[in-house]
Amino acid sequence: MSLSGAYDPANIFAKILRGEAPCAKVFEDDVALAFMDVFPQTAGHTLVIPKVACRTILDFPPDAFGAYMARVQRVAQAVEKAFAPDGVMLIQLNGAPAGQTVFHFHFHILPRREGEAMKGHGKAGMADMAALNAQAAQIAAAL
Ligand code: 5GP
Repeated sequence: MSLSGAYDPANIFAKILRGEAPCAKVFEDDVALAFMDVFPQTAGHTLVIPKVACRTILDFPPDAFGAYMARVQRVAQAVEKAFAPDGVMLIQLNGAPAGQTVFHFHFHILPRREGEAMKGHGKAGMADMAALNAQAAQIAAAL
């Protein structure tokens, strides 16, 4: 999928936002929703998506950036507090050649641990929902 094009309201994150698909929810307010990635590349892999319907960083409204990034930072801080990783990695992909697979703008937050390899994007197996819910609760408690 190219960078240009119309927002598809049937994408999986839009369904999660509307409550039509489940997620292991970490945080939600009027600006953003945070939940666990079901194919975690590291333990604790979390996604933060804005409520604005846009596909990539290129079509995200500039005046909404500050509020959204404040949520991304807050969730990253809670991930650090919950899991005490050695590093916290943020990833943000735009367009299929860049690796984007879900066309609703989002940031990935990945706890990184010394000596622990990260699974490839699109190569990780599906996590157990009970384990994801437990991690989501841990992060939520640290918010
Ligand atoms: P992207 O490739 O667009 O940067 O990231 C999309 C992410 O969404 C991927 O890491 C993928 O594992 C995750 N993902 C795909 N489908 C679902 C889903 O149904 N639920 C959740 N929680 N994550 C998903």
